[in-house]
Amino acid sequence: MTEKHDLKSLASSINAVASPFRSYLNELYEKYESLNDGTVADYIPELALAKPDWFGICIVTVDGQVFDVGNCDQLFTIQSISKAFIYGLALEDNGREYVNSKVSVEPTGEAFNSIVLDEKTNRPYNPMVNAGAIATTDLIKGNGATERLKRILDMFRRYTGRELNINVPVFLSEKTTGNRNRAMAYLMLNFGMVSDRIDETLDLYFQQCSIMVNAQDLAMMAATLANGGVNPVTGERAIDERYVQDVISVMLTCGMYDASGEWTYNVGMPAKSGVGGGITAVALGKLGIGVFSPPLDEKGNSLRGIKVCSDISRDFGLHLFNVAKSEKNLQEWIEGGNSLDNW
Ligand code: GLN
Repeated sequence: MTEKHDLKSLASSINAVASPFRSYLNELYEKYESLNDGTVADYIPELALAKPDWFGICIVTVDGQVFDVGNCDQLFTIQSISKAFIYGLALEDNGREYVNSKVSVEPTGEAFNSIVLDEKTNRPYNPMVNAGAIATTDLIKGNGATERLKRILDMFRRYTGRELNINVPVFLSEKTTGNRNRAMAYLMLNFGMVSDRIDETLDLYFQQCSIMVNAQDLAMMAATLANGGVNPVTGERAIDERYVQDVISVMLTCGMYDASGEWTYNVGMPAKSGVGGGITAVALGKLGIGVFSPPLDEKGNSLRGIKVCSDISRDFGLHLFNVAKSEKNLQEWIEGGNSLDNW
């Protein structure tokens, strides 16, 4: 392990000389390092332990180059970022039509934990709010809790290229304090929108929120989506090609809580954030971004994360609807950047 880390710093220093993109990321890191606004999530004590100055930025390109700066090895819980990927697995397991009959794709403009269902159809509004995520978790197939959890963890392994673990204290806290989520699940059961294995599904939901990732994992996950569902480093397919479009569409319209409209306007990349301080953002056909910084704004999005993604989007013209010439040409800036491979 130590040897690996030594090799990693060696590769990093070679990269630092070779790639202008790496210098760009270092500057970006320095620019926002001292930003001291926002608050670390504290609805459970474990999350409040996060240090406000933890900050990592990682970029993975669709040809598998990895650029990282800051605390990119620091583990934290994935929280709501899991929702986008669980939606993908639910689509694979059940097909689009069935999933759509259980969960809509309409932004709510409301907080992620609001207890609201579509009045006409009784569906939760979208898979990125808690109610919708509980419904998509219910759709994950498998014979019992253990097999369903194994399938979920295996899916995340395909995206990140490494085995992931659950933070058990976070899971137990989420479970102990998660009465609001329990209320949503029962409301959906009342309307026949979820199956009656409520406790099992809620456990799975709390477990998937408690999976530990780092900024590089988030970048790899985004790069996998950007690469049409194939992990650019391992070459393994993480999600059926047919459903990538569905996942990233919902990320664009609903991925940043009730700031999704503003995010799309300013940044214009499908993305998902979590209250652990992570953001994963997709530049289709180009790269994936993973940012980690625990202090959140009032909507629950990482403050440094938003700034970093806005800058990268603006500087390299990565907004989906950008037609103007961007300040920097991505290809030219990335050239010369050696891959750190899959450390
Ligand atoms: N685990 C959280 C919950 O269910 C979800 C957190 C998040 O990232 N919004 O309340």
